[in-house]
This record gives sequence, structure tokens and C-alpha cells, in this order.
Amino acid sequence: MQPLSTVEQQIVAQLDEQSEAAIAMLERTVNINSGTMNPAGVRRVADVMRPEFEALGFRVRLADQSELDRGPHLIAEREGTQGRRLLLIGHLDTVFEEDSPFQSFERLDERTARGPGINDMKGGNIAILYALRALHAAGALENTTITVVLTGDEENPGRPLDISRRDLIEAARRSDVALGFETGSSGTDHDFGVVARRSSTSWRLTVGGTAAHSSGIFREGVGSGAIYEAARILTAFHEELRGEEYLTFNPGVILGGTELSFDAAEGRGTAFGKTNVVAERAVVAGDIRTISDEQLERTRDRMRGIVARHLPHTSAEIAFTDGYPAMAPTEENHALLRQYDAISRALGYGAVLPFDPGGRGAADISFVAPYVAGLDGLGPQGSGAHTVRETIDLPTLNRATRRAALLIYRLTRES
Ligand SMILES: [Zn+2]
Repeated sequence: MQPLSTVEQQIVAQLDEQSEAAIAMLERTVNINSGTMNPAGVRRVADVMRPEFEALGFRVRLADQSELDRGPHLIAEREGTQGRRLLLIGHLDTVFEEDSPFQSFERLDERTARGPGINDMKGGNIAILYALRALHAAGALENTTITVVLTGDEENPGRPLDISRRDLIEAARRSDVALGFETGSSGTDHDFGVVARRSSTSWRLTVGGTAAHSSGIFREGVGSGAIYEAARILTAFHEELRGEEYLTFNPGVILGGTELSFDAAEGRGTAFGKTNVVAERAVVAGDIRTISDEQLERTRDRMRGIVARHLPHTSAEIAFTDGYPAMAPTEENHALLRQYDAISRALGYGAVLPFDPGGRGAADISFVAPYVAGLDGLGPQGSGAHTVRETIDLPTLNRATRRAALLIYRLTRES
């Protein structure tokens, strides 16, 4: 374990001095509503953060997303020639819209505060900012290449994703390492870091059958009907694909009968059918989560194979829509975590272990995982994310900021 150097000790001391100021800045940003569907509010948070990064010598721009009905991304960049090129990822939006009753920062006690997005992830944004401030004060940002992307729509990304995530992916292509500041988590005597996240893909199964009087079902020329075909396919998914590590697939909604309508965006629809008529149509919508692109491809192929074995006089097809790619648990990601773990222990905190990827959903770092090594979950900890009881454990803000500052420091000095 590498002990802290003099400069590193100076960075830590600076952070300790700034810890109340960091909480005050957190309060200021939490008190601005920035629900994903409130682009003007997202922009107001960006406007508060912008001069902070400019003061540290970053070139800052807001990437407009009004065409997608989303708030802007804040992109802050600086270029140099030294060390590894870093991408630091946060998000400006929260799940709490303007009509939510949950709108403000409230300090509950010495170590706890409550507020919308306080932990997911305005706390993470503040950890990024204050880590960079401390590095700046120590003269340690000189000649480094760092890009900060605070997206405006992480909780409900604008579609299509290849537009709403273009700036983030471009930033990754110019970087070697991505650090994500989503909420941290802990076990009994250690913290967790995220080296892998599962992908998220949606699918839709559309099934056709031959309408006839029910007394004719199974006969030549009538066959089994759309609902039996849908049931056959789902049963085969369940029997043949289930059980592989980190693979899940879930049918979330099903409709069948003679006539149906289905609104995929709303996840709702209507069906009409009669007990004495063989079903003519069925639709099922679901998701798949995988640990790698390879697992996703293989699963899709097997699903297509199952779909194609039609019952008599039925048809079926399955269509896939990619959401988030997988962040696979690569050796490079594990190496980053080991470095972070060593910093944590050098600072006198416990070990940091890899989080079980089965327990964590996709996030913005997933989009850049195909291009760079990555580590996520570097933000402060709390509880109740996405509920009106969202809190932050305030001491973890300084802990997260200290660890991040030293990780950034060491990575930007490596070749
Ligand atoms: Zn988040």
C-alpha cells in the first residue's frame, strides 16, 4: 500500500477545510428542481455548476438537447499531455419532477440530510467538483486531460439514445478511464465499487394465429391460435434460457385475443376476445439483462430460435431494442478498483470490494464501457434513492471526495 505523499496530504487537508462549503453547494443545487422532464430546471443546475468548473481552468459548454425535450449536458474539458486521460461522469437531473411534493434540502441531524437527488446524484456531482477544486489548489491539474460530463437526462434519457448519448460517447473516445459518481454502497466493514453493470435491452413478441370457431382449434387449417403460441414461446424461454449467471429476461406485459392495441411507451393496451373464438393476435413486451454483449447476442439468437418453431398455423416474431450496453467486469476495471481500494485504505477507510453486478441496474457509464476502463459508484452514500425519503450520509461526501481526488491525482500521473 502506497502511503500518501506530501502533495496528497495537502489535497486531503484542503478537502477537510472545504467540507462544509461542499455541503452548502450541495444544498444550493438540491434546492433547484431538475426533474428530467423539467429541462429549464436542469439548465439552472448547469448554470450554477458552470462557473465553478470555469474557475478551475476548464472550458465549459452546455450541449443543448431541446430537440429531444431534455435539459442540456454540461461538458467541462481541459487538455494536457500528462498521465491517463479521464472522463468523470455525473448527472444534473433527478426523478423528482416539478409536481413532486419533495423539493428541498433539509438537514436532519449532524450527519444526515434529506432532499430530492441529494444522493442520486447531486452529491456525486459535488464530489467531482470539490475533488477537482482541491487538486487545483494543489497545482495538480496542470497539464492533465480531464473531461467532466454531467448529463441532463440520466434518469430518463432522450431518444434516440445515439443522439442523447453522443457527447458522452465522444468524450469517452478521447479518454482512457471513466469514473462514475453514482451513489456508493457499503457492506458490514467495507465499501463497494462497481466494476460491472448489466445491459438492458427491451423486446417485443408479436404473435399471429388463425381465427376460427373454438370448436375447430387444433384441426387442420386452424391450428393452435396466437395465445397458445405465445404461451409456448414464453414457456420455452423459461425452461431453456433460465439459470445462466447474470442473465435475466422478464416478460412484463401480455395481451391476446381477437383484437388488441398496445402502446409500448405507456406500457398499456386493451384486448378483446371471446371464449369461443381461436385467438388471432398476442403481444408480449419484456426486457433482457446481461453481463456482456456476447451474452446478449447469444441470448437473442436462442430466443429467435425458440420463436421460429411455430405451432401449426401460427406466426411469431421478436424484435429487440437496445437500451444500455453492458459494462463487463474486465481486468482493467478490476485493476482500477484495486487502485481505489489501496487509496481508501491509505486514507484509513476500509477496503473497497467489487459490487455484485446482478444487484445493480444500468447507468450512464454503461454507454462508455465499450471504449474505456471504468469504475462507478464513487459517489457518497445514502438511502431511499428515487423515493421522497432520499437521504445522504454526510460524512461519506468528504470520504468519497477524498478518495476521488487521490484516484484522479494518481491516474493523471501514470503513463
Ligand atoms: Zn443516478
